[in-house]
Amino acid sequence: MKGLFKKSSKKLSVVSLIVIIVFLLTSSLSIYAGVMMQGFYWNVPAGGTWWDTLASKAYELKYMVGGYGINRIWFPPAYKGQGGANSMGYDPHDYYDLGQYYQDGTTETRFGSQSELKNAIAKYKSYGISVTEDIVLNHRSGGKSEYNPKTGTNTWTDFTNTASGKCQWHWDAFHPNNYCSSDEGTFAGFPDVCYASGPAYNDMKTWMNWLKSSSNAGFDSWRYDYVKGYGYWVVKDFNAATSPTFSVGEYWDANTSTLDWWANSSGSSVFDFALYYTLRDICNNTSGGGYLPNVFDYSKSYAAKNPFKAVTFVANHDTDEIIYDKMMAYAFILTYQGYPTIFWKDYYDYGLATGGGASPGGWGNGIKQLVWCREKLAAGSPNIEILKSDDGDLIIYGSKGYSTSSPGYIVVINDHPSQWKGAWVQTSNSYLKDKTLKAYAWSSTVSGQNVQPQNKYCDANGWVEVWAPPRGYAVYSVDGL
Ligand code: ZN
Ligand code: CA
Repeated sequence: MKGLFKKSSKKLSVVSLIVIIVFLLTSSLSIYAGVMMQGFYWNVPAGGTWWDTLASKAYELKYMVGGYGINRIWFPPAYKGQGGANSMGYDPHDYYDLGQYYQDGTTETRFGSQSELKNAIAKYKSYGISVTEDIVLNHRSGGKSEYNPKTGTNTWTDFTNTASGKCQWHWDAFHPNNYCSSDEGTFAGFPDVCYASGPAYNDMKTWMNWLKSSSNAGFDSWRYDYVKGYGYWVVKDFNAATSPTFSVGEYWDANTSTLDWWANSSGSSVFDFALYYTLRDICNNTSGGGYLPNVFDYSKSYAAKNPFKAVTFVANHDTDEIIYDKMMAYAFILTYQGYPTIFWKDYYDYGLATGGGASPGGWGNGIKQLVWCREKLAAGSPNIEILKSDDGDLIIYGSKGYSTSSPGYIVVINDHPSQWKGAWVQTSNSYLKDKTLKAYAWSSTVSGQNVQPQNKYCDANGWVEVWAPPRGYAVYSVDGL
């Protein structure tokens, strides 16, 4: 883009202007294309094996189902934390130690060595999967005690002990210093990094570009940890300085106006904590008392309000509170707008890849089949029309089609504790008209009800009666695909 502007800076032709506008439009519209995997959970096995575990799953995650799979994986903080071999990475000590220096009691990090990290990243990238690094900017850990002339006390702010020799900061890199006393937030008593003065602003830009190089690591995008702890302008500036293919901030807040403010101010995507809590309340209310249409409410779902900036999820390493009928939540985020995230533990440890419904389960159930629906039927980018939202126990919506091989779908979600629910709806999706529709994905946690819904005929005007089992869902599309 830089060269394009430079070349035509004297006289920007109409043609190149149109090219630029089309590029900007298509790039923003495709932001939520694909599916992300969170490649860890809290306290993954220690002992330096996790990078190898991640590498070993790259192929199966790329080709999860029918040739479709994830397009991004989020790695934990890969740099040495004060907790050494036990650290999950959120207590960063030496940013340049990816498991190649002995300090904090270990050479390898909890996850492995630098060469194992590089191998894992290269494996994903060889399949065209982006690799997102978790960037902890707010605070730092593991410094030595030094006299701090600002506080008149001793503080743990002497970082001249880094084995890499890099980012050897002192008290003036933290709050308070002579420039400012504080910023937007602190975390758990850790020294709070200052970006308005001192060395951190430039050092961290340099470091993130170092992380991008495949000779060091090879990450191409960022997940910003705890962005409530510092100004949005830090993310904005650091993205400008490092040109990631994507970034998402952890702004832990359920207020969709606040999420929108942060996303628009920083220019970054943001995790949809609003939808997370909305889905949690619906799923955990096993008597069906939750109000399903809340998922379409702009004040209760950031994905509804701004799909191009919302990164949706139903659990992560910090919070995993949906304890009942989590597949209803996955069915929603994987078929709806916004960029969905699959939690590693759900996929590999909780049996939701192909299950999550009541026995017998099997084909049609689970996360994999929903990924197929999104990637195959909606070409990775659901374009949503709401078809029914006036029943607290039943929602029906569709994605438009893109071609006869990606004809879109109709999704039915039912949180009633015991009854199948269905309704007549009229879709505007011409690919579904005058076709027999089949449920390609479904599940129910109610005993005896986890059975594939019957095929339904969608008439030439788009009218069709679709159903979902209790505490479950169904995803319909043209039979015979
Ligand atoms: Zn400051
Ligand atoms: Ca802070």
